[in-house]
Amino acid sequence: MDIRALALLALAGCIGSSAAESQVAPPARCIEGKPYDRGSLRADLVALASPELDGRAPGSPGDTLARKHITERLSCLGLVPVAQPFTAQNGKETANVYAVLKGADPAVGDQIILVAAHHDHLGSGHLGANDNASGVSAMLAVAHDMVARGAPKRTIVFAAFGDEETGMTGSYHFAANAPADVPTGKIVQVINLDMVGSHSSRGYVAAMGTLKNLAATKHLAKLVGRYPRINVGTGGIARGSDFEPFCKLRIPYVFFWTPDARCYHETCDTIERIDEKHLVDIAALAGDLTRALADSETDLAAARQKLGCGVSYPRR
Ligand SMILES: [Zn+2]
Repeated sequence: MDIRALALLALAGCIGSSAAESQVAPPARCIEGKPYDRGSLRADLVALASPELDGRAPGSPGDTLARKHITERLSCLGLVPVAQPFTAQNGKETANVYAVLKGADPAVGDQIILVAAHHDHLGSGHLGANDNASGVSAMLAVAHDMVARGAPKRTIVFAAFGDEETGMTGSYHFAANAPADVPTGKIVQVINLDMVGSHSSRGYVAAMGTLKNLAATKHLAKLVGRYPRINVGTGGIARGSDFEPFCKLRIPYVFFWTPDARCYHETCDTIERIDEKHLVDIAALAGDLTRALADSETDLAAARQKLGCGVSYPRR
């Protein structure tokens, strides 16, 4: 999560690029187990937040290893990950990594639900287990779930953005230079996962962007009852994470975020502090919401056209 993000939380509730088209998807090898298994989520956390990766600063060897891990995990699910390179704020080369799960419905299959989490962190001993190895791990679990459930009606895109911490550089780059297979005009919903491993810190997960009358707000309200172990705060307006460039394009978002009262951007943001029990439920809820939106009977394109993301943003 970006450092500027901590304002404006008004919770109303509880409180090398290659064309994917030219590639053949490998057979799925990794969809046997349960997607929201605590052990597999932990394996991703360990891989991404290990001292070896040293906090995944953009352009660092740890950044390269993080993207390699994400690419391998998506490939193992039978998806075709694509790297979208860009220059980070520190002048070094990094990349967004994304993969497309094609929608099967002839009428709405070209509409896109974008599930996003940033893979970078601060480096220099800041390992960023919560910020944002937790979000990437949850995103990978959602990808597993979506593949295992079979083709959705709408297309689902899984994106791990780079260089979020210095101002959402990767997601702004993605939104401004959208790949041909992920046109922003077709994205009808963003689900953003940033810092989802500290539910126990304040006892809730915020689902920001769930403003009145938005389609995702209605779907989420029907799903939260399945997860009695987590408290879900709704209705907040957020700033400073990867949903922002899309909100400026009038694309609605749900931003799952757990406040971290003690270790936000501190060196104590380590695996030992991750609240795995609730992380599993938050990831599963995000997966259910993703699927509900992907298969929704609501005209999401018209809803986006009419309501945007529910707030107006100053242009950057
Ligand atoms: Zn951060």
